[in-house]
Amino acid sequence: MPPSIIERLPAELIQPIFRESGYNPSLPLASPHIAAKLSDKRVYTAVCDHLLTAQHVNARPHQKASQTLLFAAKWMTWDFFKSWVLHQYEPKGCLCGKTEKEGCWDKQWPINWEDASQMPFSRAHLPALAWVNGRLPKKLFTGEWTQDKIEFSRFLLWTTSMTVDWANEEMRQIVLQSRKGAILQGNLEAVELFNHNRRLGKAPDIASIHFAVLEAGCNRSIVFDMLATAHRWGKCEGWARDELDDWCEARIEAGDPKGRWLQQKIQGLRGEVTPARPKPEKEPSPTKWGGNIDQREGDYELEGDKLVVNELRWNEVCVDLNSFSPMLFESFCKFRTPVLHFP
Ligand SMILES: [Zn+2]
Repeated sequence: MPPSIIERLPAELIQPIFRESGYNPSLPLASPHIAAKLSDKRVYTAVCDHLLTAQHVNARPHQKASQTLLFAAKWMTWDFFKSWVLHQYEPKGCLCGKTEKEGCWDKQWPINWEDASQMPFSRAHLPALAWVNGRLPKKLFTGEWTQDKIEFSRFLLWTTSMTVDWANEEMRQIVLQSRKGAILQGNLEAVELFNHNRRLGKAPDIASIHFAVLEAGCNRSIVFDMLATAHRWGKCEGWARDELDDWCEARIEAGDPKGRWLQQKIQGLRGEVTPARPKPEKEPSPTKWGGNIDQREGDYELEGDKLVVNELRWNEVCVDLNSFSPMLFESFCKFRTPVLHFP
């Protein structure tokens, strides 16, 4: 089919039409001819300026859908997004989008691109992108987890309110598979994202720990993070003897220290006393969930088998907020998903 009249217009005319449409992403999606004429870094930058800054607050319902399409676009790569963030916030010197004179009181600059979650924000000092609430794009959850995907996902989860579209069955399956893929790939940073962000699904439970051990080969760093997070969320309560105990015993018999290590962790979570840890004279006061998990207990190091436990700020933020009022805690955690139950 020959191009329509609008498709034949030169880029000099298409681009102002796009601007006047409020940078509606449906326009380039409607035609590859139009998309080609809008394929320009200056246009992409203008689209982001329009859709990702708070200056067009009256169009928010429309903007959420547009933000979703924007992040789904092929050109919206981690490299491009970083260049846009610098273009937008470098003049102010903080991701909150304000200078000190305008109210910034805790400069978050330069940006930690590798791990944005190391940049501490608070309810009184939010990143300017916090109100961006489109859907997280499919491209972050398809294929192998790369460093780019981890950094991009972590930045979006830390600085924006973007979520997975759980009502979309295809997307739901993609994210669930992506989580399993991260475990199979042995990618601790990717697994941590899933473990500590309720926007990326439920907290790990006994079934997912089974998967990590029995099907993914028991990467100790991954399994420890899953055990500790499951424990924190109360998912280990009533954990009865199961195939994992058999797995541990078989590994112990085979001379694999991983078997003993995991057995100690499981017994610790059940509140059982292991032979390697004699019963203390005075019982420690029981925690809310019962049992405990200690990263030092039974640890060892072999080539290719070292326990890594990262200090994650996803947890710190909400632990601090436990001293705040429930309303404040809940309000803040709409922005940053809580990892602890409010007592
Ligand atoms: Zn600031």
